[in-house]
Amino acid sequence: MIQRWLRLLALAAALALLGTIQAAPTDLVSCLSDIKSTSNASYLTTQSSASYKTERLVFDRNFDYLPLAIYHPGSEEDAAAAIQCAATYNVAVTPRSGGHSYEGYGNGGKDGSLVMNVDKLQKIEFDPATGIVTVGAGVRLGPLYTYLWENGQYLIAGGTCPSVGISGNALGGGLGMLSRKYGMLSDTVVGLRMIDAKGELWEANDNNNSDLYWALRGAGSGSFGLVTEFKIQAFKAPDKVTTMLIHWPFNMTRKVIEAYGRWGSPSLSEDLFPAMRFEKQIELQINFLGSLADAEAALAPLIQDAGPPSDKVVHEGTWMEAAILWGAVPNLEAFRNPDLTAHRYHRGRSLLYREPLSSADIDIIIEYLTHPPEHSTKVFVIIDIWRGKIDRPHTPSAFDAHRAVYHSINLSVEWKGDSGNASASAEECLAWSASFMSKLEDVFPGGRPNVEAYQNYIDRDLTNWLEAYYRGGLPRLQALKTKFDPQNVFSFPQSIPPMAGKFNSQ
Ligand SMILES: Cc1cc2nc3c(=O)[nH]c(=O)nc-3n(C[C@H](O)[C@H](O)[C@H](O)COP(=O)(O)OP(=O)(O)OC[C@H]3O[C@@H](n4cnc5c(N)ncnc54)[C@H](O)[C@@H]3O)c2cc1C
Repeated sequence: MIQRWLRLLALAAALALLGTIQAAPTDLVSCLSDIKSTSNASYLTTQSSASYKTERLVFDRNFDYLPLAIYHPGSEEDAAAAIQCAATYNVAVTPRSGGHSYEGYGNGGKDGSLVMNVDKLQKIEFDPATGIVTVGAGVRLGPLYTYLWENGQYLIAGGTCPSVGISGNALGGGLGMLSRKYGMLSDTVVGLRMIDAKGELWEANDNNNSDLYWALRGAGSGSFGLVTEFKIQAFKAPDKVTTMLIHWPFNMTRKVIEAYGRWGSPSLSEDLFPAMRFEKQIELQINFLGSLADAEAALAPLIQDAGPPSDKVVHEGTWMEAAILWGAVPNLEAFRNPDLTAHRYHRGRSLLYREPLSSADIDIIIEYLTHPPEHSTKVFVIIDIWRGKIDRPHTPSAFDAHRAVYHSINLSVEWKGDSGNASASAEECLAWSASFMSKLEDVFPGGRPNVEAYQNYIDRDLTNWLEAYYRGGLPRLQALKTKFDPQNVFSFPQSIPPMAGKFNSQ
């Protein structure tokens, strides 16, 4: 027996000399550095890499957390190996796709995470026979919309900003100017691939792992695993898309909001998506899937009720022209290749309402918009009308928490974050936003504990946020979290926790 051990030791020593046996890594970074990559595209950025300073930045620059490392997997195998390293060394894992989380969660939302940046997963494959597009988790909306447009004039129903990532957008819902016609982006996802905390790969669709499929569509951002790929149903774009920007003076706010509340009844055309923006004036943004004449007819009852607008800019054109307008970029090239250095200092907060806004809500909106923080560069409120196809998904999902929502409202403040008095400006703007939100929560229908909100406008200061985002689906989501990630490896300040007592907190 002893002789056998000696022989084994001698063999190990010889192999070590040949360089085939390495000491086991002692920390996360060594473990990541030791990954035997299956893809040339994979790479690791550590705190000592020259690019760490810029790579850790996300779109909302008021968040600057310090990840332990940023890993860019070029393959699912490499992603699985990196996740296993983090689990071994008890480091929280946070996926990042487009980096547009309102709370900077693409950077961990706290110091010390392993960020899994999926920017190397850039597959786009379209099957015209089924209209299904297969999309890598790192693709941004702009290049994807452009690709679908240029390959048969197809569209998918996601968010409006071209630099938002497909992953965060689709996993939390995905609302855009097509949602009343086709539903949320998550409703059109027909399959996903996800790597869990043990490094196991799961395929989820209606027939396969349907519980995971249910959870990832609406509650999938960062809580269950790293999604690597989506299959999404695309639709043929209509021949004509009409856009309208209709303005009223700010002093008509009460009348316009009241008329808006009456207009969006169940009979409102699903071809129409309205977003009403209140800033220095009122701007109603209309996307209509059809002709200008039909759009005017759908709009007429609102104009009659609210009173004549001060001006109107209309355009009958293509879906791609409309997408460029809503994406707030100058042209197709800027939509196809969004500026990934663009950023802002911003606080955005949101609530969902199942009925038109009350007089008390309107009073608060007018009060806060007419008294913006002195050092803000912009304050605005956007009120959308939902319903339509959002209320009729083809199959259940965690987004069912928000069926039958009438209005989404979004309040935003921006400031200059690189000026001399940046921190004072931030403090003042954050206080304004907190006070505005608190007043709205005070008068929320059913009281503060009933507050409901959209998880893609994530907000760590929201009252009862777990219930506000997931409502009746929460117990099932926690049971699934416990199944797929009992050790809470995928965790950030607003991730879904496993069931109490069944996990090690990180
Ligand atoms: C300028 C701007 C415009 C926006 N417009 C819209 C809009 O029109 N409609 C709308 O619905 N929303 C909109 N949003 C909100 C946006 O959809 C969410 O912030 C979304 O989560 C951003 O996704 P991301 O991938 O860009 O962000 P990230 O910060 O990369 O990710 C957001 C969250 O998803 C998780 N995540 C990312 N990738 C993965 C993955 N591969 N697997 C698992 N989890 C992952 C992250 O960990 C994080 O928690 C907008 C946000 C901004 C800043």
